[in-house]
Amino acid sequence: MRLPYKGRCRITKLFGSKPPTGVHYKYGYHTGCDLVGITDKMIVSCEAGQVMANGYDADGWGNYVKIKGAESGLTAIYCHMAARSALAVGKLVAAGTVIGREGATGQVTGGHLHLEFRKKAGDGSTAVNPCTVLGIVGQTGEVEEVEEEMEITKVKFILPNKTKIAVDGFISDGVNYTAARKLLEALEFKVGWDGTNVVVSK
Ligand SMILES: [Zn+2]
Repeated sequence: MRLPYKGRCRITKLFGSKPPTGVHYKYGYHTGCDLVGITDKMIVSCEAGQVMANGYDADGWGNYVKIKGAESGLTAIYCHMAARSALAVGKLVAAGTVIGREGATGQVTGGHLHLEFRKKAGDGSTAVNPCTVLGIVGQTGEVEEVEEEMEITKVKFILPNKTKIAVDGFISDGVNYTAARKLLEALEFKVGWDGTNVVVSK
């Protein structure tokens, strides 16, 4: 999965938002995520897949394209584009293939991409949160990737008297990060790394 813009973009409305007063949402909540391109307005496919629909819906989605993802099996719907997409139904696209330009067609108050992901559920489909699918932070503003969680592991220490101890921590790029290391450094021990162990000396 990749972002639906080549450049930077921001989230203007989150999945699950309630409608503003006077606006009716078919499902009672916002079933997609609204995004606006900052550096580039061209919308691209988030995933390799097949074009399932290319249409126009005056009362809702405006110019839209549906692409079924080859790997996720989710159907992505890209809405409100400035013009009809050049992609023919049935066409296979790669991740990053240009779908169209961000626009304000259909039911909108301003230019943006309404991006929706649907997964099959019984006879119909259910919308899933695009932020989760894309691995981005679920808050409005410029899109940020979710940071990968560090895996907590036992970090082995060899103390100046050759005693070996293991402390919970994590290792990244051959560097260990533990509270114990901070403490030892604060006590003015020399803290080294032999590739396997944290070697502590005076
Ligand atoms: Zn929307």
